[in-house]
This record gives sequence, C-alpha cells and structure tokens, in this order.
Amino acid sequence: MKLIFLGPPGAGKGTLAARAVGILEKAYGMPHPHISTGAIFRAAIAAQSPLGLKVKAILDSGKLVDDGTTIELVQERLAREDARGGYILDGFPRTIPQAEALAGFSHVDRVLNFDIPNEAVLERLGGRRVCRGCGHNFHIVFDKPKQDGVCDHCGGEVYTRDDDKPEAVQKRLEVYRAQTAPLIGFYRGKGLLTNVDARPDVEQVVENFKKALPV
Ligand code: AMP
Repeated sequence: MKLIFLGPPGAGKGTLAARAVGILEKAYGMPHPHISTGAIFRAAIAAQSPLGLKVKAILDSGKLVDDGTTIELVQERLAREDARGGYILDGFPRTIPQAEALAGFSHVDRVLNFDIPNEAVLERLGGRRVCRGCGHNFHIVFDKPKQDGVCDHCGGEVYTRDDDKPEAVQKRLEVYRAQTAPLIGFYRGKGLLTNVDARPDVEQVVENFKKALPV
C-alpha cells in the first residue's frame, strides 16, 4: 500500500505514521517504511552534510526547501528495495509540482488527509518535543517522556524543534495554506483522497486510520 499523509504541521502525521508502519507491515506482509522529508532534512542538518548546510536556514524559517532538491531526494529514497511494496510519505508532496513529479515515478494508492482545526494545531506544535536520536515525538502535556528531556525509546536528548517556535509556526501554517492545501483538491479530483479526523487522541486516530483504508 503506497500512502501519502497530507495535512498541516502538527496534525499528527508523524505520530500516526510511526504506528501505521507496523499495522501495514502485518496486513500486507512487506515493509512499509515511514519516509518523512522533514526528518531526512533534520538528520542531514545534524550530520552537517552538504544537504544539511544547504537547507538549515530554510527549515529554521519555516519556508519550503526547493522542489528540485526535495523531489530528487524522494525519488532516490523510493527507489530503494524496502519501499518497493509500500510506503508512507509524510510531509511530501507539499506543492503541486512535487505531486506531479511523484506521479511520474510512483503509483500512489491512497492519500489520507488529516483534518484538524487551526487552534488544535497551535496547541500541539507549542507543546511538541522531539528526540534528537530516533525522532520520536513527545508532547509536554499529552505524552511526556518518563524522564524530563530524555527519550523513553533510545535515551536521546528530547528538544524543541526551532521551527516549532511561535514565529516559525505561523509561517509554516501560512505556507501550508498557500502551497500545500491545494493538494487536497488535486488528489480529490483523482479519486484518491480519504479524510481522517485527526482531532482525537492517538489511539482513536489509529482506529480512524484502520477504518479509512481498511486494514
Ligand atoms: P516537517 O517535519 O514535515 O514539518 O518538515 C519540516 C520542514 O522541512 C518544513 O517546514 C520544510 O522547511 C522542510 N520540508 C519538509 N518536507 C518538505 C517538502 N516536501 N518540500 C519542501 N520542504 C519540505
């Protein structure tokens, strides 16, 4: 099953994807890697690779990395063996040109649109904390790590993403509305879109996800 998770920042795409990987692998008997372009960029920044140096200021500002760089990255990732049978694309595509390019190198089965009001997004992003080691998402109110600042899963440092700070959050929401939201109509027109109510807690969203597919 080749899936796109679409929705504003903070809708819970990454959190659900971490759960959905296991559900899909079991249901279809093959790996379904969670491919997050944001996580790939953050790992490149941490490693200070040429890609990381190129994109750091862009991520910090909340703007989008250019389509050419992003498309090349995803095309290479999808060509790897583990993505042959299925995948979850989280945070890609984010523009119409990215969606058009993707159609040229992969056949997407379904696009899940994470529906969530603006206020809930602001609350989630304001409290989000991320592990520097494994990328796991926590929340200071809803899902705290057992020990302050330390990841329950890998012991890595739990920190606030620079782009989860208030000015960058506003910018990312503007960018989402202007450049990414048009993808809802794009994929609806192709008959690929399914809405998922992303407001409830993680367990309920997992149930909504299973019903939406269904698996
Ligand atoms: P995310 O973790 O999905 O919120 O992404 C964090 C940041 O990475 C975004 O604000 C962008 O700067 C960059 N980014 C991630 N995915 C894309 C994409 N598909 N196109 C352009 N920039 C992206």
